[in-house]
Amino acid sequence: MPASRFRPRVVILGAGFGGVNAAKVLGGAPVDVVVVDRTNHHLFQPLLYQVATAALAPSDIAAATRALLRGYKNIKVIMGEAVGVDADARQVCLRDGARLDYDFLVVATGSSYSFFGHDEWARHAHVLKTLDDALEIRSALLSAFELAERCTDVAEIRRLMTFVVIGGGPTGVELAGTIAELSRTTLARDFRTIAPDSAHIVLCEAGERILSAFTPEQSRYGAAMLRRLGVHVRTGAMVRAVDARGVDVGGERIEAALVLWCAGTAANPAAQWLRAVSAKNGGVRVKPDCSLPGRPEIFVIGDVASLDGADGNPLPALAPVAKQQGCYVGKLLRTKIEGGAEPGPFRYRDYGMMAIIGRSRAVAMLFGLRMRGFAAWLAWSLIHLMLLVDFRSRLTVYVNWSWAWFTYGRGARLLTRAPRWIEQRRVQPEDRASTRELTQGDMTK
Ligand SMILES: Cc1cc2nc3c(=O)[nH]c(=O)nc-3n(C[C@H](O)[C@H](O)[C@H](O)COP(=O)(O)OP(=O)(O)OC[C@H]3O[C@@H](n4cnc5c(N)ncnc54)[C@H](O)[C@@H]3O)c2cc1C
Repeated sequence: MPASRFRPRVVILGAGFGGVNAAKVLGGAPVDVVVVDRTNHHLFQPLLYQVATAALAPSDIAAATRALLRGYKNIKVIMGEAVGVDADARQVCLRDGARLDYDFLVVATGSSYSFFGHDEWARHAHVLKTLDDALEIRSALLSAFELAERCTDVAEIRRLMTFVVIGGGPTGVELAGTIAELSRTTLARDFRTIAPDSAHIVLCEAGERILSAFTPEQSRYGAAMLRRLGVHVRTGAMVRAVDARGVDVGGERIEAALVLWCAGTAANPAAQWLRAVSAKNGGVRVKPDCSLPGRPEIFVIGDVASLDGADGNPLPALAPVAKQQGCYVGKLLRTKIEGGAEPGPFRYRDYGMMAIIGRSRAVAMLFGLRMRGFAAWLAWSLIHLMLLVDFRSRLTVYVNWSWAWFTYGRGARLLTRAPRWIEQRRVQPEDRASTRELTQGDMTK
């Protein structure tokens, strides 16, 4: 049953870049909008790696969806997880059994990581997609140094201070560079037994070069800058296995505390819900107006969609694509509901792409200009500040970045619970000795 004969209802699945922008364009229109997300926040994923490496706090890069859409009386926000769509009945099915009627549906549920058919690796490798993922990585990373500080076995210390990043795209490069900097600057001053600056950071890329979407010259620059930071860059290194103690990669075994998976993404499973044709990455193939073939009332946008660009290649899974598609579908629906000339097919305006390498270097292709080094880093910083969702986030991120830039300090380094290893381990003789020393030292003060 259609939701209403008087005021149409648009259900938007996902409050990411695509969903929030579609909703904002529909704000104030004669339509009831329901935004459904399994979390209660909109997340700025491009800066997730900074939460994972203790540079920023979660609240700096995320905002409550309700607060973002508070100004629009016709928009309702629901926290819930979609598990299916009954397209004939025009209903969305939620995990708790609830069903939501719609007249128009916008699917913007994003993507997840793909382990290329090795889902068992997901048990041991960390991915970076949500705030929980970032906090887990931060906790594992900081705990590894804490554990190494108390460890007496040299081989185990080496393992605890080895971090393997798999995938040489922008996310892998940003993570590897930032972990190297964290260990060589901030942490290097804080430990007494271990030398954090001797941490072994390995970036593995199966292809011939890292940052393959950039020019070969920019890739070489990126690799050189990473090496200068102390990252071991390994290209042509295919992963064969990932387990609890490390990876088999490029014919070598690397014992590691942490394996970070930044290779390959796959669209979330909307294609199955919609019984739609999907691309290789699982993205729903859509028509040039982002609608589903044969279902003009259903639109699929952002990472979960697959649409070819002007060059005949599928549009990349990037925030600006999702954002522009969200605005486009919002406008299209407004004209369908309010009347007026419908916009032509969706056209992506490509302003470029960027990747940051450590504290003050980046590569960028902006408005057709190729940039690298400090100028690219400055452009990256300004653009990301502007793109953050609200003024409060911009201000706190700006203050945190400035502080970190001048002092190498990182404010978000708190571990809220002891690493499991410390909790469960019985006190060892060397611990008793150091405890005794500490007690005696304290008593003589
Ligand atoms: C670590 C990282 C770094 C990145 N860096 C960059 C960058 O520098 N530049 C760039 O342009 N792009 C970057 N991207 C890609 C960019 O973030 C995505 O392309 C963009 O977020 C896609 O927007 P979207 O709206 O399609 O999906 P998302 O922004 O992922 O939003 C999807 C939303 O749907 C919700 N959801 C998912 N499944 C369900 C469900 N079943 N029910 C209810 N809700 C659901 C999720 O909670 C989420 O809020 C990065 C991505 C990652 C992970």
